[in-house]
Amino acid sequence: MNSRRNFLQKLAASVVTFPLLSSEAIACMEQTGSMVQDGPPLRVAIMGLGSYGTRVAEAMKDCKRARLTGVISGTPAKITNWQSKYNIPEKNCYNYENFDRIKDNPDIDAVYVITPNALHREHVIRAAKAGKHVICEKPMALNAKEGQEMVDACKKANVKLLVGYRMHFEPKTLEIIRMRKEGELGKIMFFQGLSGFAIGDPGQWRLKKELAGGGALMDIGIYSINGARYMVGEEPVWVTAQETKTDPEKFKPGVDETIQFQLGFPSGAVASCLSTYSMNNLDRFFLNGTKGFAELQPSTGYGPIKGRTNKGELTQPHMTHQTVQMDEMAAIIMDGKQPVVSVDGEEGLRDLKIIDAIYEAVKSGKKVKLTI
Ligand code: NDP
Repeated sequence: MNSRRNFLQKLAASVVTFPLLSSEAIACMEQTGSMVQDGPPLRVAIMGLGSYGTRVAEAMKDCKRARLTGVISGTPAKITNWQSKYNIPEKNCYNYENFDRIKDNPDIDAVYVITPNALHREHVIRAAKAGKHVICEKPMALNAKEGQEMVDACKKANVKLLVGYRMHFEPKTLEIIRMRKEGELGKIMFFQGLSGFAIGDPGQWRLKKELAGGGALMDIGIYSINGARYMVGEEPVWVTAQETKTDPEKFKPGVDETIQFQLGFPSGAVASCLSTYSMNNLDRFFLNGTKGFAELQPSTGYGPIKGRTNKGELTQPHMTHQTVQMDEMAAIIMDGKQPVVSVDGEEGLRDLKIIDAIYEAVKSGKKVKLTI
């Protein structure tokens, strides 16, 4: 009751500030408890104006706490286009050669790195050295060694490092995590994660080892890795993995097409996952405990996410993932808010340690022990 009353008090205050909140959004915030408080905005420069960068920029139009104030791009025509579309002044526009100068720009608090995977390490470390907080897309880096260097560099520069794990703020996902934490599913025994899509254009960077760092596992399988951890609520202690390749022409050496992997957790729970670049309609999580189950399908796409548990359909309303993510990240960076599931550099590093172990298990055919 108390928390409901507190919520309604906060809501009454917020209606003055945000009269355009939809009833769906209000209902969603009530159900998830996700409510970003007023406060200073996080002024963000997006680096890499590609397909996902564009999606983030569009979603940020509806943010309450995060604001797009700058861009970093290697394509002058995109910069001009974004300047007029998002009202970005010339002095807040950079390219990859000169963006270290961002350190002298008081209009930018954080850089959001949305470039191909192999560039994340350099881009994050340079942004950190320029004294800016950094949000980095998944996978945070190509391997745990690089990830550790990025975490260390951000610590040294005294800036925050977050990873773009948008599902950590998704209401139906959070409801399952709440049920698991409160024991409503009993002892967790099993998780299944299926993550994949049939990839198109063979010339794209996602199919180039030097830019992608691998194949489907780095790009889409990471959702099952990360999901296994937040669904089960433990860190894995071993992995086994098997690779299959049906098209060695498209999927060159070092670029995985399909990997099945299994994770073992300290409690005895196990996860069985599939990561692939050659099957569509593969986006499903299933969690099984001694008292109940939860399933999400789709589980990590842009939504709406759909799901049910042994108690019935999950009804939390859909909100644009990237809008919620950026508002929540603003509160994490500016107010020190603690998210339900961490999105910091250490969290990104844990997934990279598991990715390293999966590739090692594929190579050796053996069970690989993990300490995370
Ligand atoms: P795109 O290819 O659409 O965009 C990447 C952008 O990076 C390019 O448009 C370009 O922007 C810049 N870039 C800089 N150097 C290079 C280079 N050598 N080759 C290609 N592009 C370069 O990729 P996405 O936007 O789909 O993916 C970017 C990152 O975002 C990846 O790490 C990916 O995993 C992640 N992602 C995350 C998603 C999520 O849901 N969290 C969803 C999709 C992607 P410019 O011309 O401005 O320099």
